[in-house]
Amino acid sequence: MTADVQAPSNQAAGDSQETFDSLSPVTGDVVGTWPVHSAAFVEAAVARAHDAATFWSGLSFDERAERLTAWAGVMTRRIAQLADIVHQETGKPHSDATLEAALALDHVAWAAKNARKVLGRRKVSSGLVMANQAATVEYRPLGVVGVIGPWNYPVFTPMGSIAYALAAGNAVVFKPSELTPGVGYWLGATFGEVVPEQPVFQVVTGLGETGAALCRAGVDKLAFTGSTATGKKVMAACAETLTPVVIEAGGKDAVLVDQDADLDAAADATLWGACSNAGQTCIGVERVYVHDRVYDDFLSRLLDKARDLRAEDSPDTKMGPITMPSQLGVISAHIQDALDRGGKAVLGGPGAVGVRFVQPTVLVDVPEDSLAVQEETFGPTVTVTRVKDMDDAVEKANGTRYGLGSTVFARARGMELAERIRSGMTAVNGVITFAAIPSLPFGGVGDSGFGRIHGPDGLKEFTYAKAIARQRFKPMLALTTFTRNAKADNQLTQIVTMLHGRGTTLKK
Ligand code: NDP
Repeated sequence: MTADVQAPSNQAAGDSQETFDSLSPVTGDVVGTWPVHSAAFVEAAVARAHDAATFWSGLSFDERAERLTAWAGVMTRRIAQLADIVHQETGKPHSDATLEAALALDHVAWAAKNARKVLGRRKVSSGLVMANQAATVEYRPLGVVGVIGPWNYPVFTPMGSIAYALAAGNAVVFKPSELTPGVGYWLGATFGEVVPEQPVFQVVTGLGETGAALCRAGVDKLAFTGSTATGKKVMAACAETLTPVVIEAGGKDAVLVDQDADLDAAADATLWGACSNAGQTCIGVERVYVHDRVYDDFLSRLLDKARDLRAEDSPDTKMGPITMPSQLGVISAHIQDALDRGGKAVLGGPGAVGVRFVQPTVLVDVPEDSLAVQEETFGPTVTVTRVKDMDDAVEKANGTRYGLGSTVFARARGMELAERIRSGMTAVNGVITFAAIPSLPFGGVGDSGFGRIHGPDGLKEFTYAKAIARQRFKPMLALTTFTRNAKADNQLTQIVTMLHGRGTTLKK
């Protein structure tokens, strides 16, 4: 382990001698050495979490909110330390690491503040037929939520599940990516300082097998964020025990640029959306569809801005390295496939892919069935495609198996186009803005997964609905009894006819 990051005081250390290293993607140096937790260790952690869940769910919403707010306070005061660990393990620039942490903290605060309002017991109408009943609904915690996270946003992404699951009253066992275990431990350690009584939030480390073990360890729900391929494995493992899952998987997000768009803003957003975090963003921009009338102007503005951007090992770089070395091969393959099929690299190209860094790459005239258009590249590359009109743009944007985020730049038709894109989230005249609005749900459709984190939906995701019908007085019409007679049946028919009998037949 690194000197900065100690195992949380409220959980046991590793159970075996086996360890793995997390490495700096910039230098290849060892950042920390971590235990590979076995299936037995993970099972024991989940068993402890079940006890902790009884304690945690026994607190009131306000008591939990108080602790979560205190946790957010600790993390905020140490944000520089957190950002430094993120920087060491992912290579991303310090300022990007700080931005990521700050946005995650906003989610912790929102979940803490809003859990009672969203999940607490509320009255609902019991209707005329059941007028003697008082009807209430509330959202109860599931118990223990397992969270498996990726490395690309090792704070922001898993926090979308962790904070919302905790605010809803669940205990959490978190398995961070093997590339970012130090970040995971830091989150668990700071939480343990604020809630020392019980292991409400534990962290287990290891490789993929540790994640697979978490799926089978008796959790009540598994929240997975990572690639679509691993998401399928997680779902299959959870199916063995009918454990419900949230799958936040990959994306192939498109930007649509209409003829009346602010082209400078669209080019700026495209560049940042495609290249921030060196393109390793699930909701990163990977494709752009531009109206024929403004295509040339947009492309030249994009290239003007992109030429100044370089990924490099320097303290004030705006673009860091590719965190996972094997991704370099995927990025190269996508660029080469685009060129082989007749596409052109107007910036970057095969030579942009280095040993650790990839330079911004803009591809044009790339056929829609190529890898660079259909598959997640996860690098600082973008295809820019001319479309005859915005119907064509919508059709092409919807032409992949993914459906995570999207962006529209348009003046007159922004909302209309946004509604027509099959994706879980859309930003209009901005990029990735929806992720930073805690009250908006976050998640995808198709191969981007299902279920939602963030917002009221994200809180409800980690609960089950509990409905209670309480009799207030004896019914005028006793329906749920064998003493029900023909008179009661007639009265019921009259009431139902009065309520619903006027619906007219639809004209063909
Ligand atoms: P992976 O799918 O490789 O890994 C995700 C997590 O799953 C890691 O913790 C990994 O552990 C673990 N894991 C690996 N194998 C198994 C298994 N058999 N059972 C259970 N868990 C397992 O994704 P990456 O970490 O490479 O993250 C990048 C991907 O995440 C991209 O596709 C990106 O689009 C997606 N993503 C989606 C987001 C969203 O909200 N929709 C947000 C951020 C990223 P280990 O690292 O130890 O192998």
